[in-house]
Amino acid sequence: MRFLQWLVILAVLLALPEAVPAPPDYSGAATAYLGSAVFVLPLDGDALYLPTDELGRARGAAKLIRPADLEFRPRGDLSGVNVTGFVQRNYQFIPGMNLYNRCHMIAHSLGGEDIAENLFTGTHTLNTSAMRLIEERVENYILRTGDAVRYEVILRFGESNLVCYGAYISARSVSSDEIDFTVYCYNIEPGVSIDFSNGNSEIAQFSTSIEDFPEDGEVITFVLNTNTKRIHSPDCPSVTEMKPKNRRDYCGDLESLLAAGYALCGRCNGGIN
Ligand SMILES: [Zn+2]
Repeated sequence: MRFLQWLVILAVLLALPEAVPAPPDYSGAATAYLGSAVFVLPLDGDALYLPTDELGRARGAAKLIRPADLEFRPRGDLSGVNVTGFVQRNYQFIPGMNLYNRCHMIAHSLGGEDIAENLFTGTHTLNTSAMRLIEERVENYILRTGDAVRYEVILRFGESNLVCYGAYISARSVSSDEIDFTVYCYNIEPGVSIDFSNGNSEIAQFSTSIEDFPEDGEVITFVLNTNTKRIHSPDCPSVTEMKPKNRRDYCGDLESLLAAGYALCGRCNGGIN
């Protein structure tokens, strides 16, 4: 990479907090829509992967994705690629059980490279419930129209954290207005508390105080499944299917539950409209 280009990129990264609005606090949704696409990397050519930084962290990548990029290519072996903070652990309540994936910033299916500069430690939920849905939308658009899409991913780290808090994804279609967004994807896993400084994790402790459990006559705001770590409305059909030992009635606020690693039920959304 040319020195001048590197200086430009450095300046861009330093200006990032101003260029992109700070994401809202996590409130149970895997992504937050931030508005129209805001690109901060100077994409000069087909693709740009920022070099890994002094801690070995991938930071950002950008690519002009064309129909030819969607053609099948064999996948590289990622198991030997070192991504920071990849302290793998298994949890029974995660489909496939693995907490972490080696996530691509620019997906392999969108023509992204299988290299350290494009890979980071991401949770199962980030990979499957956030990034993949965005990638599929872009892929479907390109397949349907033959248009190209400018695409950019920037990881958001604390100063010396080895695992990122989340990823900004910006995309804009070249010849139409159909695709035009910046979305923030949270690097979280419901039911797990992650130490972003080093990638260690543990089952989120349920730490609400005793006042949060209903006394006589008090209204139950949510019914919790302590096994799946889901938050239900008291009238959700899942409540009747729940094993009694996993059920816990609750009358506190939602924020404490989310902070404790609970997530809203996909069926009833906790009764929140
Ligand atoms: Zn429910």
